[in-house]
Amino acid sequence: MKRFKPRIKIGPTSVTILFFVLSLAVIPRLLPDNYWQSIFSITGVYVMLALGLNIVAGFTGLLDLSYIAFFGIGGYTFAFLCSDHFGIHLPFLLALPICALTAMVSGFLLGLTSIRLKGDYLAIVTLAFAQIFKLLLLNLDAPINITGGVNGIYAFDQVTLLFINIVTPENYSVLIWTCALLVFLVSFRLKASRIGRGWNAIREDELAANAIGINTTRMKLYSFATGAMIAGFSGAVFVSFQDSVFPNNFDFQQLVIVYCMVIIGGLGNIYGVIAGAVVLSILPEILREYGGLRMMIYGVALVSIMALRPQGLFSAIPGFTKLVKRPDKDETGELRASTDLYYSQDKDETDVKRYTKQAIPLLEIQNLTLNFGGLTAVDKLDFCLHKNEILSIIGPNGAGKSTLFNIISGIYQSDQGKVIYKDLDISAYKPHRVAKAGIARTFQNLRLFNELSVIDNIKISRFCRTKAFFFSAIFNLNLNKTEEKETHETAKKILKMFGRRLTGYRYDQKVSQLSYANRRRVEIARAMATGPEILLLDEPSAGMNPQETGEITEFIKELRDRFGYTILVIEHKLNLVKAVSDRVIVMDHGEKICEGSYDDVAKNPMVIEAYLGKKGKSGNQTNS
Ligand code: ADP
Ligand code: MG
Repeated sequence: MKRFKPRIKIGPTSVTILFFVLSLAVIPRLLPDNYWQSIFSITGVYVMLALGLNIVAGFTGLLDLSYIAFFGIGGYTFAFLCSDHFGIHLPFLLALPICALTAMVSGFLLGLTSIRLKGDYLAIVTLAFAQIFKLLLLNLDAPINITGGVNGIYAFDQVTLLFINIVTPENYSVLIWTCALLVFLVSFRLKASRIGRGWNAIREDELAANAIGINTTRMKLYSFATGAMIAGFSGAVFVSFQDSVFPNNFDFQQLVIVYCMVIIGGLGNIYGVIAGAVVLSILPEILREYGGLRMMIYGVALVSIMALRPQGLFSAIPGFTKLVKRPDKDETGELRASTDLYYSQDKDETDVKRYTKQAIPLLEIQNLTLNFGGLTAVDKLDFCLHKNEILSIIGPNGAGKSTLFNIISGIYQSDQGKVIYKDLDISAYKPHRVAKAGIARTFQNLRLFNELSVIDNIKISRFCRTKAFFFSAIFNLNLNKTEEKETHETAKKILKMFGRRLTGYRYDQKVSQLSYANRRRVEIARAMATGPEILLLDEPSAGMNPQETGEITEFIKELRDRFGYTILVIEHKLNLVKAVSDRVIVMDHGEKICEGSYDDVAKNPMVIEAYLGKKGKSGNQTNS
């Protein structure tokens, strides 16, 4: 989390920076010989590589198997630009960014073609890319010698920085670890920014991320390209150190090693990943004297780590990750019952404003139809939602209510009909554009970012209302600072609306530790944080006990009365519907069968029929 007032505090960040600086100043001098000097340098390269892969696989959750190819692209670009091979002799400091950029552009292009693929399919395409890359390296030595084939390319220009010739292993280790420090800072800053939060959201639940306003395709592409850039940068530094480059340097085996580093460090955990890289670089060397047993011990160590600490070797070790307080105890250690706190305790009565339904149409659904194969889930639906209205949609399971929400929020495309929001035809909008336009939703089956804290779940929603981009985030420019502050304050303000249910020690709790009712509340809070005008609530009281249902009923009323939201709510609990609704629409088999005030609707014979299932209709209703 970002701190706004710089305070000197010994935390994991300072420890890491201290570690780097120490590495630079002391370790090279302590190492016994050139052999250990070069192990130390290689460790630095692995730290960079692992941090880069951590962005793609750890932050964003993409199974990218082409990562090692970008390491190679950086390496070979360096060989082309700084050697006799083509007779180009660029200075090191110019060649380095070019190598990183070349890898980044390659990553971007590969990403463009494959990023829409998910999981295994992305893995297959990226693996194929890495294999093709390796084959090209091996075979592009004839008829024109480009890559040098199996023999690779060697004897690069001497590196001179600030009039110092970088020759000895000691010089190199300082250079490499300085680069590693840079990569650490970049990934640290990105992780703490809106970009990092967007990536995390994609890893946790891509659809939900899209629905709260994140252009997931684009953000995945950025993640892919950022990883490729860091790999390319590391590749250039590495081959310069090795003073040669061979196709073998970019084997699948290398990729597996880097993945192991990231996984045993804990996907997404920067400090863990650094430690993972250090341990896995040095361990094989320490084991070297055990000869044949070496790989066996190494293997057993890896398997044990994965079995005993699947979240990563260094997760939840004090100082490496923030310890989360026991959720069910208060500061004095007393058990805290969840029902002893009423949500509106902290209500600020001074800002009570009253909103009521107005005659202005805000959202118009026109002739909306969607078929799933032979099943018409939504059938020629027409209705209008007015400004500051609470409109409830009821109907038996399988009536098409959630499907309607999925169409409005852009997750499904309708076969016919339109969704008009404030004179804007949003029928063809993707989910992130719908969210940005001002319509936010919750999901019937809860789609929270479970491994993230309550406050982070809410902060992610500010993504579509903020702009800070890579440059601003990495250098923490003013735009980033103000937006981070605004994001944090808005998130807190929204959580406060739920009273003590979601404040205080709850902020830092993982969402997966919350009670079911609280998770429902977080989902509503997350929708509110996107800054919408319309809230689509899909069964907000599902799974809540009567007391919690009473609270949420009051809360939904307040959302309109005090905060002026316009609300479309799907509900089964008729007490809630009765208490909140200006109007009620009843759906059955995708059609609107009736519309009006709660009392009118409740008396309608068609509604009674739909609910009680006369004519044997209930037989084909499915649970969803
Ligand atoms: P509910 O009114 O209970 O929210 P839904 O909108 O979830 O109902 O579902 C309406 C109908 O559409 C159901 O018969 C359901 O099985 C079907 N359905 C929903 N989503 C899909 C899908 N992605 N593919 C096929 N059928 C679906
Ligand atoms: Mg539903």
